[in-house]
Amino acid sequence: MKTVGILGGGQLARMMVLAGTPLGVRFVVLDPAADACASQVAPMVAGSFADTQALDEFASRADVATFDFENVPSASAESLLKRVPVFPNPRALAVAQDRLAEKTLFGELDIPVAPFAVVDNRAQLDEAIAKVGTPCILKTRRLGYDGKGQFRLLSSDDADAAWDALGAQASRVGLILEGFVEFDRELSVVAVRDRHGEFRSWPVTENWHVDGVLSASLAPASVSDAMAAVATRHARKVADALDYVGVFALELFCRNGELLANEMAPRVHNSGHWTIEGAETSQFQNHLRAVLGLPLGATRMLGHACMLNWIGKMPAPEAVLAEPSGHWHDYGKAAREGRKVGHATLRADSRQELAQALERVGVALGRQEQVAPVIARLQATAS
Ligand code: AMP
Repeated sequence: MKTVGILGGGQLARMMVLAGTPLGVRFVVLDPAADACASQVAPMVAGSFADTQALDEFASRADVATFDFENVPSASAESLLKRVPVFPNPRALAVAQDRLAEKTLFGELDIPVAPFAVVDNRAQLDEAIAKVGTPCILKTRRLGYDGKGQFRLLSSDDADAAWDALGAQASRVGLILEGFVEFDRELSVVAVRDRHGEFRSWPVTENWHVDGVLSASLAPASVSDAMAAVATRHARKVADALDYVGVFALELFCRNGELLANEMAPRVHNSGHWTIEGAETSQFQNHLRAVLGLPLGATRMLGHACMLNWIGKMPAPEAVLAEPSGHWHDYGKAAREGRKVGHATLRADSRQELAQALERVGVALGRQEQVAPVIARLQATAS
């Protein structure tokens, strides 16, 4: 079996390794931190993503390369491509790295987005506010993730504060102003496309964020078949347009029955972690199958699933492990504020049972706030 090289050694790489091991896949991981959490499960090359020597060593040990981290410099991805096949391709990576390129592509594909305007200087911020309207949100075009590099403006009076917060980054990573979407819910489509263009998606997932960071995911989302079909069609169009190979996520806002695309992640995604136990084939294994040119596995769900993220530090596992279908994932990372350190997935055959399991876990761990919106959604749609 071949060796897959993964750029980035975080929890996504770690879970890829765990999913690929039964297939006999070997791995090598490149990360600037020698103790990145994937180093506990796979051999590492320690070095920056721009370090040519480290990239050379990495490429010499891999048959194919992929990413756990989308902000690898596109020049590094291009130079790797001279040595090994790279999936997803560097163009897909470059588009997903830049919110402007991403939104431009969505527009070309007739996928609705919130109004937006590029902001390169202070004067353009005023023009952008006039164009987009308020409330709105100023974001870095590149290198933002998990709500970092964002500033919300309630009115044009907040322009100075927004510029103070992010203006210094305008020349380095670019800025974009987006209309604030008063969404009813946030959804994502996690999907996979193989080297022959075969496309499969997992059921649409509903997501809840706290301070811009994913807190909980519920699958399947309780949306109409028609809405799920539109969401999936959007994802397919993006994948086909980019000749994408591997797993990706399309994040969507749902407002009054309308879907607006927020962004795409060119990699396995936090809102797809539930697929490890909640679907016939996980996003991690299907990603590896796609990049290795193996047949894709079925993406059908096994009941209902909810994933809860553990941010900052791990809670005690007993309450989740005591559940009939409770699954625990500790990424082996040191505790640190705001850091994703693990997750749990609860699975059940019905929405009612899933709501009951979440209630028990929420109370036992003192995390009622985290589970409450998910329980409310399950109860509103229990059948
Ligand atoms: P992002 O980094 O773009 O995925 O943003 C992180 C989170 O911030 C999203 O999942 C939303 O909860 C929120 N957010 C980002 N952009 C917008 C927007 N234009 N309108 C409303 N909420 C947003």
